[in-house]
Amino acid sequence: MTNCFDAVVVGGGLGGLAAAAALARAGRSVRLLERHVQPGGYATTFTRGPFEFEASLHELSGIGTPQAPGPLYRTLERLDVAKRLTFLPIPDLYRAVAPRYGLDMRLPASRQGATEALLDAFPHERAGITRVMDDLFAIERDVDRLSDGVDLSTPEVIARYPAFARAARSPLAALLYREVGDPLARLALGQMWSYFGLPPSRLSLLLFASGLTTYLSHGACTIKGKSQALSNALVAVIEDAGGVVTLGDGAREIACSSNRVSGVITDHGEQLQTETVVANANPLIVAFDLVGPDRFPAAFIRRISRCAPSISTVCVHLGLSNDRRALGLDDHEVFINGTVDLEQQYRDACQLEPSDSFLLTAYNVVDADFSPQGTCVVSLVAACDGRAWSKLDSAGYRALKRRYAEQLVARAAELYPGLEHHIDVEVISTPITNTRYTGNIAGAIYGFAPTPDENPAFRLPQRAPIDGLWFAGAWTQPGGGYQPSIESGVAAADAVLTSRS
Ligand SMILES: Cc1cc2nc3c(=O)[nH]c(=O)nc-3n(C[C@H](O)[C@H](O)[C@H](O)COP(=O)(O)OP(=O)(O)OC[C@H]3O[C@@H](n4cnc5c(N)ncnc54)[C@H](O)[C@@H]3O)c2cc1C
Repeated sequence: MTNCFDAVVVGGGLGGLAAAAALARAGRSVRLLERHVQPGGYATTFTRGPFEFEASLHELSGIGTPQAPGPLYRTLERLDVAKRLTFLPIPDLYRAVAPRYGLDMRLPASRQGATEALLDAFPHERAGITRVMDDLFAIERDVDRLSDGVDLSTPEVIARYPAFARAARSPLAALLYREVGDPLARLALGQMWSYFGLPPSRLSLLLFASGLTTYLSHGACTIKGKSQALSNALVAVIEDAGGVVTLGDGAREIACSSNRVSGVITDHGEQLQTETVVANANPLIVAFDLVGPDRFPAAFIRRISRCAPSISTVCVHLGLSNDRRALGLDDHEVFINGTVDLEQQYRDACQLEPSDSFLLTAYNVVDADFSPQGTCVVSLVAACDGRAWSKLDSAGYRALKRRYAEQLVARAAELYPGLEHHIDVEVISTPITNTRYTGNIAGAIYGFAPTPDENPAFRLPQRAPIDGLWFAGAWTQPGGGYQPSIESGVAAADAVLTSRS
């Protein structure tokens, strides 16, 4: 086999797979190195006993319908992936439950449905809710209209894209807390903060607007065959186009000479020659471990060092020996809230103890075949600060895992009585698990924390300050999550193709 490639892609998460697929389909010779034995990064599954568990995907954004395909569907079509997959729509974006505060409502996955549900539940907040929804969609319209290459610092941007300009440096709280006073209504609207990883006072308004309006415009769905089907389909596209995907071997070094990429040395010692590397491994590892910080401008090293990683997760995956209907599991995505104060939820998540606000996903609701007949799979997911977990010793780590499992299961059973008696298989993943399987610092699931300064427009660009080195994945523009990570990979490939032609 040749060891000379037009491009080497380091990492087979969604960003890396999408970049490799786009490059291979454009006729470039591509080698993708993935350190894990399975492709996908977070977009993978694992099997215990009779159950295949989903490692990450709850709700995929941007797919739309066959009549009105969404932006992610069109990207997957371009990559020749869409036709290989079956998407399963999720009718409600979420059910929000706060038992101690008497809140139990469902937010349909459409603008009209969601607005009506919010106004029905909070008629006294009609004016504020309407203004929030209008503003979120105005921001998204500006983002859509922003043409590539606009200098975001010019006064022209403020004049032509006022909603974007207002949102660019603002946190979600600047809109949500200004317009809506009732804490329950704030919760119902801002419930998805944990999908983005920061509370309203610190979360980029631009990111929240893009994320929520994409779900409300194009719906939410899962994938038949789980996220692994998506990752496997991307691998098939790369291989069909002549690319090579190597699993179980990573990049140990990205070699450079005179500020230019010259090759990659793999964990197994193979030397690959290339002038183009797309790094899906996170930029900190790339800079400090694979390339060496001295090769980068000091400003770049300062920039990536000062940004905090996003939140991480503790997941309690449950294989249950009962049909989901018998347990009353009728909703796919259920936010269970111990407090209605979103800022407190975040503070609780950052403590090294289980929070009583978390997410329950019942996968069999939209995919009856998700697990063997007569069984179902539920995941309980708590946001957490991954940095604190790495300081635990092994006894403390094991004990904390156990406390998470016991408390999240007990809380879930208050809403779904009997669930606790049907646990056949239980698997707990933590920030340490996330780092082990993806290399992400602090088990971060969305790259850098999405503050206003790290909003989609100001995030790390695909082009690195070393010739021939490009970034793809959650740490870079436009941000974390399935749709953004895939888009970042395609953007990296497009930049490579344009820069060489
Ligand atoms: C529990 C959980 C739930 C989530 N739910 C959702 C959801 O419902 N919807 C949504 O949109 N997003 C969700 N996400 C977030 C989403 O999964 C991620 O943001 C996204 O998958 C990140 O993709 P990525 O391209 O950055 O690659 P990553 O998934 O971070 O993968 C990076 C890959 O690079 C590889 N790698 C690292 N270093 C090297 C090296 N030196 N050599 C070779 N390979 C290397 C790693 O092994 C890994 O496979 C969730 C995440 C988690 C953990």
